[in-house]
Amino acid sequence: MTATTLFYIIIAIIIVNFIIDKILDALNAKHFNDAIPNELKDVYDDAEYKKSQAYKLTNYKFGVWSSTFSVALTLAFICFGGFEYVDVLARRFSDNSIVIALVFFGIIMFGSDILSTPFSYYKTFVIEERFGFNKTTIKTFILDKVKGVLMMAVIGGGILALIIYIFQLTQQHFWLYAWAIITIFSVFMNMFYAKLIVPLFNKQTPLEESSLRHKISEYAQSVGFNLEKIFVIDGSKRSTKANAYFSGFGNEKRVTLYDTLINDLEEEEIVAVLAHEVGHYKRKHIIYNLVASVLLTGLTLYVLSIFITNPLLSNALGVSTHSFHVGLVAFGLLYAPISEITGLVMNWLSRQFEYQADDYAKNTYKALPLITALKKLNKNSLSNLTPHKAYVFVHYSHPTLLQRMRNLLG
Ligand SMILES: [Zn+2]
Repeated sequence: MTATTLFYIIIAIIIVNFIIDKILDALNAKHFNDAIPNELKDVYDDAEYKKSQAYKLTNYKFGVWSSTFSVALTLAFICFGGFEYVDVLARRFSDNSIVIALVFFGIIMFGSDILSTPFSYYKTFVIEERFGFNKTTIKTFILDKVKGVLMMAVIGGGILALIIYIFQLTQQHFWLYAWAIITIFSVFMNMFYAKLIVPLFNKQTPLEESSLRHKISEYAQSVGFNLEKIFVIDGSKRSTKANAYFSGFGNEKRVTLYDTLINDLEEEEIVAVLAHEVGHYKRKHIIYNLVASVLLTGLTLYVLSIFITNPLLSNALGVSTHSFHVGLVAFGLLYAPISEITGLVMNWLSRQFEYQADDYAKNTYKALPLITALKKLNKNSLSNLTPHKAYVFVHYSHPTLLQRMRNLLG
């Protein structure tokens, strides 16, 4: 194998990946105008349906433009020696390989962030705004960006520095230590995400005294879930779209309900959504997801450890001095087909978990309010009610509304 062969393999992976993705998008778009299944006819009235059609089409076109731009830029960057340029630049700052790696990723991340910001700006302030979803102010948008970058620099930079340090000490055995570090970090983040990270972006408050709290308390008691673990988050700060999720485990477990969800739904429907989230907890979905991602990380790191010392990785990207950080980039690009496959498996697993959580809500509470809740949530986010099967298989972490409804009624 020569560096040139490897270079062409990397380019081929990027292009094939892009083409498959665009075929799936186009296939899905071809079914935007399909007849809505009878069971879902009451989701939209005529005007809303037209609006949802326009929303799907707008997002589809935007997706084509933004992904084409991003892939073209990535290809150009690789073909015109972008990585070599940045690597040489980073080496001017220091002889220390950790500092070089941090500067290298810092420049690349900063550059790609600058280039992607106009797209996220357009998505939020033009598309979401036009369809009445956007509540984000320019100030929130900028603050989110700044906080995101700082968080990435501290956490991402910290973990990267630590892993390179261990790599220098242990060479190919580094993967075991790196695996341990990432596992400990994932468990910690899974537990404390709601306490440490969410408050940087949102306000979370305990459920207020109200008839809703009373109804929720009754349900929570019936299934043995602590009411103190239910929080309301100010999602309305950014968007009118509603959501709810379960996170953490042990003493740090909690259900988070968006204030938009509480505004949009009737009390019974909110309890049904909560019952679904409690179902995720009772069926231990967080733990299974964590275990799956830890195992996948271990596998990825092990494969990485086999190849990381090979200078072909850096040379394939046109970088003359082999290093851990450039090897990591090349490996990431080469590993993409495998991570696509593991992504498919994780999405499939997630859809099974959704059915289980729906079943739990149905068995411990009621199916009907969950169905009407799901219909309202789909309506209020102008969801696509007729997605293509292949698109659902690849991209959906939740079953479609129709599938969930049939399961709940079955
Ligand atoms: Zn769920």
